Amino acid sequence: MRCPYCSSENTQVKDSRPVEDNTAIRRRRTCPVCEQRFTTFERVQLQDVTVIKSDGKRESFNRGKLRHSIMIALRKRPIDEARLDDQLSLLVRQLEMSGDGEVTSKDIGKRVMEMLARLDPVGFVRYASVYNDFQQASDFTRLLESLGGKASDDASSS
Ligand SMILES: [Zn+2]
Repeated sequence: MRCPYCSSENTQVKDSRPVEDNTAIRRRRTCPVCEQRFTTFERVQLQDVTVIKSDGKRESFNRGKLRHSIMIALRKRPIDEARLDDQLSLLVRQLEMSGDGEVTSKDIGKRVMEMLARLDPVGFVRYASVYNDFQQASDFTRLLESLGGKASDDASSS
C-alpha cells in the first residue's frame, strides 16, 4: 500500500483487527520514510454498485460518501459509530446483492431512513427532511403519522 503522504511504496502494517461484525479488517499502517500513520479497511465487495440519480446520471456507489451524508444527519447525536458502521455494512451488502448491481439514489435514501429509524430518531427525522425536501411543519406531521401506521402494520403481521 502506497503512503498517501509521501507516496513511498513500502508502508508497514502495525496492527490489524476485524471490525464491523467481522465483515471488515482494519489495518493501522505506518510509513517508515515519513513516519506518518494511516488506516486501511479491507471489505468484502460482492459486486460493483452503480447509483442512478434522480436526474438520470449514473455514478459508482461510494460508501464513504454515503456515510458522510448520514453523519451530517447525526451531527452531535450520541451515536455509537461502530454500530453505525455495522448497520451500514448490512445496507451496502443489500445493495450489492440487489439484482443487476444498479440502484436508484431514491432506493438508497429509503434504506438509509429505515436504518436511521432504528438507530436514532432525531437523525432519522433530519435525514428524512432533507431526503423528502420538507418545506413546512405539516410535512413532519405526515411523516410521523406514516411511521405510526407502519409500526402497527408490522405488529399485526407478526
Ligand atoms: Zn510516507
